[in-house]
Amino acid sequence: MFNNVKEVKEFCENKKIKIIDFKVVDLAGRWHHLSIPAERFNESIIENGIGFDGSSYGFLTVEKSDMIFKPDITTAFIDPFCQIPTLTMIANIYETDGENKRFEGDPRYIAEKAESYLIETGIADENIIGPEFEFYVFDHVAYNNKPYHQQVSLDTRQAYWNTGINDYQNLGYKVQFQKGYHVDIPKDITNDFRSKATRLLEDVGIKIKYHHHEVGGAGQVELETQFGRLKEMADNTLKLKYIVKNLAIQEGKTVTFMPKPIYGEAGNGMHIHMQLFKDGQPIFYDQDGYSQLSDIALYYIGGILKHAPALLAFTNPSTNSYKRLVPGYEAPVSICFATANRSSVIRIPGYAKTPEKKRFEFRPSDATANPYLAFAAILMAGLDGVINKIDPAEQGFGPYDINIFNLPEEERSKIKSLPKSLEEAADALEKDHEFLLAGGVFTKGLIQDQISRIREEARKVNNVPHPKEFELYYDL
Ligand code: GLU
Ligand code: MG
Ligand code: MG
Repeated sequence: MFNNVKEVKEFCENKKIKIIDFKVVDLAGRWHHLSIPAERFNESIIENGIGFDGSSYGFLTVEKSDMIFKPDITTAFIDPFCQIPTLTMIANIYETDGENKRFEGDPRYIAEKAESYLIETGIADENIIGPEFEFYVFDHVAYNNKPYHQQVSLDTRQAYWNTGINDYQNLGYKVQFQKGYHVDIPKDITNDFRSKATRLLEDVGIKIKYHHHEVGGAGQVELETQFGRLKEMADNTLKLKYIVKNLAIQEGKTVTFMPKPIYGEAGNGMHIHMQLFKDGQPIFYDQDGYSQLSDIALYYIGGILKHAPALLAFTNPSTNSYKRLVPGYEAPVSICFATANRSSVIRIPGYAKTPEKKRFEFRPSDATANPYLAFAAILMAGLDGVINKIDPAEQGFGPYDINIFNLPEEERSKIKSLPKSLEEAADALEKDHEFLLAGGVFTKGLIQDQISRIREEARKVNNVPHPKEFELYYDL
């Protein structure tokens, strides 16, 4: 949007912008923010940055918590939710000692390093990413007039549903569980919400491909953006989540990207489509290859599948992620690739046939991931596959052009499974992370911080008595 401070200042004067807001991403992928009066914005802020305490950002292996952030003016957008006109920009993290030294563990820096490493390898010069966003839209005030956080637990509601006893009102005309795909108005009650979100996203420069109701009948929707470069798409991921969450609050609703908010309903994935280009030419296409994929594309897939268990520590980093990765809900469970098959980790869309469109999607990922780290980790796994010529067929990853869930148990058990819990993913990353360190893209410290963070979260969740345990054990 801007090339220099002068342009920012002029823009602020013309648009009567009063506040400049800075967003800084933490290890988990959450924005933190800090604001200044627009007239205080100057060269010094770009050059010297603003100091902050990084200790609550999850970067544990850093000795000192003092850090600096410096705004990236090219990411600026007008915040549609602030009453006082506000220009928002994403910032990069720097260390306090040493001139102008980027903090190696800054997720945004890791995304940049991954993009540079791709060029260094000579394999390609552009990694194009297309994340898909699935989420649930819920009423902020529940059916029983309690705020959402005081509602009967979702498990209990599901139990009512299963027994046929229910305290729902007006059940006659609503979308049933798992029956929501592309439902039309008036059943599609969040259509206006999605259209408003789409217009706001276009205003901040995020191009939307389409929006629709998703399979989850209890209010699941999907927004898809047009594809773009890795770091830019990670920025857009956080912008998109920010906009839909804020719009929801404004409209008396809440949205959640939680991978499995409702038992028995479709989960929320964040499938990631990917392509590589060299000198402007797509390199994943070969007319004679399996599913019109080039050898490079197949090796890239081989790398991703080989490292899939470790990757999940970045792409599926919550305990709830593993409640989505179960059979029967179009979410993957087995490590394999296939054309047009939603039960596989890598799906090659059957309708993308031209060289420019040729691509595949990584299906396990969900939006509890830090997008910078998840996109970068997938790229690193793919490049490792190309460099080491990892043939996915030789590794036993398929292709499986059948619904794996329909295979007899004996056949299915031959296919490797994805980690079944966050602990398993953490263990996998601990064992397998050399591919992430190539070219200095990820650091050992950052990987260790991620492992510690997710292990700690798993421990916290495991220590809490679960509603299901009362059903199973209360009267033993
Ligand atoms: N909601 C499904 C998931 O959890 C995906 C549905 C689709 O293919 O769009 O991944
Ligand atoms: Mg979908
Ligand atoms: Mg998809």
